[in-house]
Amino acid sequence: MREKEILFWDTKAERISAEDLRSLQVQSLRKQVENALKTPFYRERLRAAGITGSGHIKTLDDIRRIPFTAKQDLRDAYPFGLLAVPRDELVRVHASSGTTGIPTIIYHTQQDLDMATDTMARSIMCCGGHRGDTLQNMMTYGLFTGGLGFHYGAERIGITVIPTSSGNTLRQLRFMKDLGTTMVHATPSYLLHLHAAIEHEGYRREELALRMAVTGAEPHSEELRCKIQDKLGIGVYNNYGMSELNGPGVAIECVYRQGMHVWEDRYIMEIINPDTLEPVPDGETGELVMTILCRDAMPLLRYRTRDLTRIIPEPCSCGRTHRRVARFTGRTDDMLIINGVNVFPSQIEEVLLRMPGVGANYLILVEKQGVLDKLTVRTEVTPEMFADDARVLNALREQLRSELAALITITPGIELKEPGSIPLAEGKAKRVEDLRPKD
Ligand code: AMP
Ligand code: ZN
Repeated sequence: MREKEILFWDTKAERISAEDLRSLQVQSLRKQVENALKTPFYRERLRAAGITGSGHIKTLDDIRRIPFTAKQDLRDAYPFGLLAVPRDELVRVHASSGTTGIPTIIYHTQQDLDMATDTMARSIMCCGGHRGDTLQNMMTYGLFTGGLGFHYGAERIGITVIPTSSGNTLRQLRFMKDLGTTMVHATPSYLLHLHAAIEHEGYRREELALRMAVTGAEPHSEELRCKIQDKLGIGVYNNYGMSELNGPGVAIECVYRQGMHVWEDRYIMEIINPDTLEPVPDGETGELVMTILCRDAMPLLRYRTRDLTRIIPEPCSCGRTHRRVARFTGRTDDMLIINGVNVFPSQIEEVLLRMPGVGANYLILVEKQGVLDKLTVRTEVTPEMFADDARVLNALREQLRSELAALITITPGIELKEPGSIPLAEGKAKRVEDLRPKD
C-alpha cells in the first residue's frame, strides 16, 4: 500500500547520525548566537547573561547559559527589535494570531523562506505526500503561516496545490470531487465539519480520491484522530508548528503515526519543567523550548512555546534519527484555540473593560456546536445600562460583538446580564469555562 511506503525528501539529513547531528547543532547554535547579537533585543539580553560572542558556546550544554525568550519579548521588541539583517533583505512578514494589541511578527529573508519551504517539503514527504498528489490546502491564507507555509512546501515536492483556504465547504467538496483531491491540510475540527458536509450533500466515498489528511494548529486527542480516520476512511497525520518557528512542519508524524519527528538539524529542542525551568528527563512531560537554527532575519533562542509534550526516546521504525515528541497535551498559559484561532482571555477582557456600560464581572464560554467551536462572552452590564431600554442594550451587544470580532477574528455570541447575576468566584476568578469534550 502506497501509504506505508517510507519516503524521504532528504535522506542524508533525515538519517543523520547522532554524532553528526550534535556537531551540526553546536555549529549552527554558534552562528545563531552571533546573528542574535546583531539585534538590539539579544545584544542586551545576551550581554546581561555574559555572552558576548559565540566563543561562549563550546558544547550543546552551553545552551543553558542562554536566557529564555518569551512571547512577551517579541511584543516588546515590536516591530524591529529582533531584526538581524538590513530591512531591504526582508521578503515576507508573518504574524501570530492571538495577541493583545501588539502583534507578534516574524520576518524572513528569501533564504529563510527557502529553508522553511525545504523543511515543509521534508515534513509532507515524511507523512507520505508525494509528487502526483493533489492537495487542497484548507488552512487560512494570510498572516497565519498554515496557508502559505504548507503551500510552498507542497509545491516544492511537485504536488498539485489547490489553495482553497478555509471555509466555503460546498466549493471545497466540489473541487475535491472534480479535481481528484488526494490530500487535505485542515484543522481537526474542520475535518469533522467536512465529513458532515460530505454526508449531508450525499457524496459517495468512491467519488472522492482522498487518501490522507495532515492536521494541526490545535490540540486534539488520539481518539479524535481515530474518529476522523474512520469517518473519512483516510490516514490522518499530526503536524505541529507555530508562526514564531516558521509555521507548520516543525514536527510531523511519519507513516507509523507514533509521535512527531522534530527536525533537529533545524531546531534545538529542550523540554523543561515550566516552574523550575530545569530540563526534565527524557519521556517526562514538560514545556517545549525551541531554538531556531534555520533563520537569519529573526533569530529566536530558547523560545518558550508554552506547549506541553514529552520526548519519545526510542528510535522510530522509519529510520529517521530525529527524535519524536508525543501529541501535545495542553499549554502552560491560558491561550484558547478556537476553531484553530489563538485567543487569549486577556484580549477579550481588554475590549470589555474599555466599553462604557459593561460591568466588572464576565465569563468566557467555549462549547462545541456540532463539530465546530462556539465562543460566547457573557458579561454583566452596569445598573444604569440595565435600566435603559432594549435598543441601548442591543446597540451595546452589537458594538461588543464587532469590536471583539475585529480584535480576535472570531465573532462571539454576546450575552448581557443583570448586575450581580454572574456568580463571583471565591478565590481566583474563573473567567473561562471550556466545555468542549476533551476528545
Ligand atoms: P500559530 O502561531 O497561530 O500557528 O499557533 C501555534 C500554536 O498552535 C502552538 O503553539 C500550539 O499551541 C498550537 N498547535 C499547533 N499545532 C498543533 C498540534 N499539532 N497539536 C496541538 N497544538 C498545536
Ligand atoms: Zn518515524
